[in-house]
Amino acid sequence: MNDESTRRPTDLPASGDAGSLNFETLAVRAGSLRTEFNEHAEALFLTSSFCFKSAAEAAHRFANADDGFTYSRVTNPSVAMFQSRLAALEGGEACLATSSGMSAILSVMMSALQAGDHLVSSRSIFGSTMQLLANILVRFGITATFVDATDLSAWRDAIRPETKLFFLETPSNPLTEVADITAVAEIAHAAGLLFVVDNCFCSPALQRPLALGADVVVHSATKYIDGQGRVLGGAVVGSRAFVIDKVFPFVRSAGPTLSAFNAWVLLRGLETLSLRMERQSANALEIATWLEAHPGVSRVFYPGLASHPQHAIAMRQQSAGGAVLAFEVAGATPELQRENAWRVIDATQVCSITANLGDTRTTITHPASTTHGRVTPEARAAAGISEGLIRLAVGLENAGDVRADLDRGLSAAV
Ligand SMILES: *Cc1c(COP(=O)(O)O)cnc(C)c1O
Repeated sequence: MNDESTRRPTDLPASGDAGSLNFETLAVRAGSLRTEFNEHAEALFLTSSFCFKSAAEAAHRFANADDGFTYSRVTNPSVAMFQSRLAALEGGEACLATSSGMSAILSVMMSALQAGDHLVSSRSIFGSTMQLLANILVRFGITATFVDATDLSAWRDAIRPETKLFFLETPSNPLTEVADITAVAEIAHAAGLLFVVDNCFCSPALQRPLALGADVVVHSATKYIDGQGRVLGGAVVGSRAFVIDKVFPFVRSAGPTLSAFNAWVLLRGLETLSLRMERQSANALEIATWLEAHPGVSRVFYPGLASHPQHAIAMRQQSAGGAVLAFEVAGATPELQRENAWRVIDATQVCSITANLGDTRTTITHPASTTHGRVTPEARAAAGISEGLIRLAVGLENAGDVRADLDRGLSAAV
């Protein structure tokens, strides 16, 4: 192993000595470690533990006196490479990988908060994140208030003496609402709070929240970072002081560690991330523009469209609109809207009917009866999720083929 590989992953420089290198270069080169065999492609280190030359070396390493590897719950070279590369792409000092996006969010909360603390979160967040923040953390004495992400005074007004953290997901799912990261960061920092952004929908290829004022970025690497629907993974990116001194002790003890195999797959995913995000965003814009002109469609939600309420903010803080869009099919009553939405979905032959997103394959879903099906009709209406709403996570197919696929169902709508 060369010098690099014996360092603890979490101590690797965020962007190596590559400060002047651009995103695309870092995406294929940052964080690589090479063994004595000088392999060109990064190796997959499937091992649970690492050997020592002597009892003295083991003792030394367990005392954290040197930076070598001990046990893969603590760290592993394949995971280390993924962490270094993602830290470089997000522009963070340090990154810690986790077994899933949810374990990344849990690890942040368990590391930053304690009983008696309060957090403020945007309301339109991933369903399991809502469960965690609203129903699970409360059993440990941590309470949460949920606000409209685009309403800056709501963020400010929700702050209490015991508030410690702001959590924001932007763009939101499924309506693609965009919150102004810099403006929310200013409110958080004026009150001395930690500001955490879930950057899953944009990925660092389109949006870098740390540069916009966020303290911590969390990821479901399951989505665009893998990008091919294969493995689960998550990550926390931020300062060394937070990620290494606060989150690492939790992860190494509690064990929501990323597996070496998944890290190796995700490392490959990062290599093509910007290409995929650019093309999938371009496809999404083309489809959104076409849907907006379609007589069977009453409304389209996509940050890249000029009609989007936060279009200006989105274009300022994102380099493209992203791959997720939503649209409403027309219908005289909610029942007819649902019928038409289901007709569109059932008429597709190219799109996959699944609630996942972040794949090379376009996925189509009816939020009111799936991802938001357990929410009461009143709460759904308040969140703006109508019976006619369809979410599309656009993939890498030919955009014309996806349009033709949707047109079949839209033409059959009543
Ligand atoms: C999927 C998702 C998560 C959770 O990630 P998992 O990898 O499924 O645990 C968190 N946030 C957002 C925005 C997501 O889409």
